[in-house]
Amino acid sequence: MAKINYTIATFGSHSALQILKGAKDEGFKTLIITLLDRKDFYQRFPFIDKIITVKNYSDFPEIEEKLVKENIILIPHGSIVAYLGLEKNKSMKLKYFGNKQVLDWEADRAKQREWLHKAEINLPKQFDNIDDVTYPVIVKSYGAAGGKGYFYAKNRQDFEDKIHHLKDAPFVIQEYVIGVTLYIHYFYSPLTKTIEIMSMDRRYETNVDSLGRIPLRGQEGLEIEPSYVVVGNSPLVLRESLLPEAYAMGERVIKASKELMGERGLFGPFCLETVITPDQKFFVIEISGRIVAGTNLFINGSPYSDLIYQEPMSTGRRVAREIEIAIKENKLGEILN
Ligand code: ATP
Repeated sequence: MAKINYTIATFGSHSALQILKGAKDEGFKTLIITLLDRKDFYQRFPFIDKIITVKNYSDFPEIEEKLVKENIILIPHGSIVAYLGLEKNKSMKLKYFGNKQVLDWEADRAKQREWLHKAEINLPKQFDNIDDVTYPVIVKSYGAAGGKGYFYAKNRQDFEDKIHHLKDAPFVIQEYVIGVTLYIHYFYSPLTKTIEIMSMDRRYETNVDSLGRIPLRGQEGLEIEPSYVVVGNSPLVLRESLLPEAYAMGERVIKASKELMGERGLFGPFCLETVITPDQKFFVIEISGRIVAGTNLFINGSPYSDLIYQEPMSTGRRVAREIEIAIKENKLGEILN
């Protein structure tokens, strides 16, 4: 693979290994920015050319001053958003793959719903007034990561008994959709204006995904509450008859993003987090506007990427491929922020 005079960089967490392996496979130089105590770990991987360590991610703006002068392209992932926060992400000066306008639409739950609603996506009902609620519901505090702090309520009494755990944190009350959870990983190319499904996963959440292993009889009297803390991801293939709607949802989300966020809208990797009900409808509980960690299952490609590519194509590698094509076609400005 020909060397390209650009370095692809990311922070040392989340999907960094996948992103940098994919970048190397596409002929880029690679850089990881990580905490000092992870240096030895990342050194194990020969596809990482350079490691820069920081004591704390809050020190990042200092090193950014130096990096900005080099040909470096940063690939954002969920941990970068979490470590630096929304404002620092937006004010970052490094070349950044993606459209930063999406960050505002994603971070605000109300805006996210407006976006998905415009895209004609089924959404779980949300209740503003406690007297209007139909049960069961899931109560979500703001800013909870990885499902931590969410609770399930089967009726008003159950809700009243549990709500004090959230203390004063703001929350939303959402219809609990009973079905199979499925996270669909898309890639939208702004260069070819096409959408691709790269892979799919299910999050494995404790303890909700294990409750079915204990019969109701065995649970009675134990007062086990479902919790939604993510511990891992497992693959799933979707019934083929549901695949056209999976593609169509992705397309509608992109179209709506262009109407709401300016011409470029959302591009690159994104994920629709869905629950599929017995009548085979997708309900979307959340959208992530970048690579999600579930794609790590598919460093060597997936059944879906295999339908499109003749070589192993992870989402990380697909990002690098897009950058490579943009460089060749002199369109880098179209995909960076
Ligand atoms: P955030 O990204 O805001 O931190 P999160 O990704 O931690 O959120 P969600 O994806 O919204 O959290 O939800 C976590 C889990 O809770 C889901 O994977 C799913 O199992 C469950 N869940 C969330 N919303 C619903 C719903 N409306 N109906 C049924 N289950 C839900």
